[in-house]
Amino acid sequence: MTDPASSPVPMPALITSPAGFRTSGRTGRRTWHEGADFRAPLGTPVLAVRAGRVHAVFREEDRRSRARGYGNLVVLYHRREAVYTAYAHLSQVLVAPELEVLAGTVLGASGASTNGRFPRMPAHLHFAARRPRRSGRAPWPGPYPNPDRHPALHREVWVDPAVFLARFGLETVGRRPGAGSLRIRPGSHADVGHGWPMPPRFAVRAQRRGR
Ligand SMILES: [Zn+2]
Repeated sequence: MTDPASSPVPMPALITSPAGFRTSGRTGRRTWHEGADFRAPLGTPVLAVRAGRVHAVFREEDRRSRARGYGNLVVLYHRREAVYTAYAHLSQVLVAPELEVLAGTVLGASGASTNGRFPRMPAHLHFAARRPRRSGRAPWPGPYPNPDRHPALHREVWVDPAVFLARFGLETVGRRPGAGSLRIRPGSHADVGHGWPMPPRFAVRAQRRGR
């Protein structure tokens, strides 16, 4: 496949908490979850799902980070799809803004960084996707597109991460929609042969734009 796609964590990949409304077991409150949470014990490689450019890196230690709660966050822009994808709570970041990455490029390692907001949160990967704002501006950093609080913004930018992955053959198999194991559809962008996933790529093609 000349136009590959990758799971955001190495296969077998499991979505433990899908995007959508969920009720907190702790507080009983109904909250909106914009991304899909993947099982990713501390240090799991986190992979670019499609070729793209590193739009931004937000660092947990940056006290002025405009992505507080996400900890170390990498945001990619995929020009072909005109979609941004985000990889949150990382323990390590291995890419820098403006790098061009390929599907399967290791962006960093999973973790539990949250800028101190959720100190007991277990390590996992929060994977989210957004379209550009209608103005053309990037949706990150930007408000959380909660459909109750920001319905117009929600319609403008939010992309269901499981639906986005399914476009490229990474389908979720489980009882709840959007939760469960990823399966590779044979012959899809995610199939590098006989249903096998793309192996992680450790080399980053370091092409700066405009050179
Ligand atoms: Zn999450």
